Amino acid sequence: MEIFTLKSDIEKYLSASRLQGRTIGLVPTMGALHQGHVSLIETAVTDVDIVVCSIFVNPTQFTDKKDLENYPRTVEQDIEKLVASGCDVLFLPSVDEMYPPADENWCIDLGNLELILEGEFRPGHYQGVTQIVKKLFDVVKPDTAFFGQKDFQQVKVINRMVEKLEMPVKIIMCPIKREENGLAMSSRNVRLSEMEKKQALALSQALIKAKGDFGLRKVSELRDDAERFLRNSDGIDFEYFEILDAGNLGPVSQETENVVALVAAKVGETRLIDNIILK
Ligand code: AMP
Repeated sequence: MEIFTLKSDIEKYLSASRLQGRTIGLVPTMGALHQGHVSLIETAVTDVDIVVCSIFVNPTQFTDKKDLENYPRTVEQDIEKLVASGCDVLFLPSVDEMYPPADENWCIDLGNLELILEGEFRPGHYQGVTQIVKKLFDVVKPDTAFFGQKDFQQVKVINRMVEKLEMPVKIIMCPIKREENGLAMSSRNVRLSEMEKKQALALSQALIKAKGDFGLRKVSELRDDAERFLRNSDGIDFEYFEILDAGNLGPVSQETENVVALVAAKVGETRLIDNIILK
């Protein structure tokens, strides 16, 4: 696996590959890689000729400075996992490389998408996400980029940006990888104590219950049941549980074709999100 820390070096390497007619896929990550990330790499390997993974803990998407400082960083182990999963190129830039001092201000209109759910609880988060993903797309110029359903709203936001800026990249959403007990894999799970890991199961349990009851009861009842369950669960600091149109994250109506339930809660100091497709 080739490892690059400079934009100019990876650009040179990839433009040579592009000239040979090879397709390029990008898997953007913040590192502390787990099976969820690996599944994205594995999907990319089957889909494109050259798989690029980026590891960059992006400061502009963190609304909480302590969260940024405490974010797990495990580059050595990450490199081993990437090599084992068939990744071709790792892009590992510094903060100065991605955010030079004379950087332009970034602002993109994401409409309602950045006012709801994560956008509401983490103001500015999606401006930071789109800012870094735009920069990564500009450097790597991928034919295809792979994102996890784990961050469902993020995929919607990236799709919105790609449409708005007419970027020539195909976005693929890959399914959520879970522990055997149902807990969605997340880099932040390493911060959970054994007790908190058990308490965190309430999130996936609430989602699975909603899926089981979907179609049998009103959406508003399912939502209220889930909220009640989570508020009564030990160690859970409830933030939201919403059932929305999976196409545009708007309200569900009779005509809605695809429906998603999304949840966020803090378990101890660790903020977790999860979701499930109901229909
Ligand atoms: P992160 O490093 O948390 O920014 O995640 C990088 C990419 O991996 C994002 O597209 C995430 O949605 C995806 N991802 C994170 N956790 C999972 C998971 N449990 N299953 C599938 N994809 C995931």
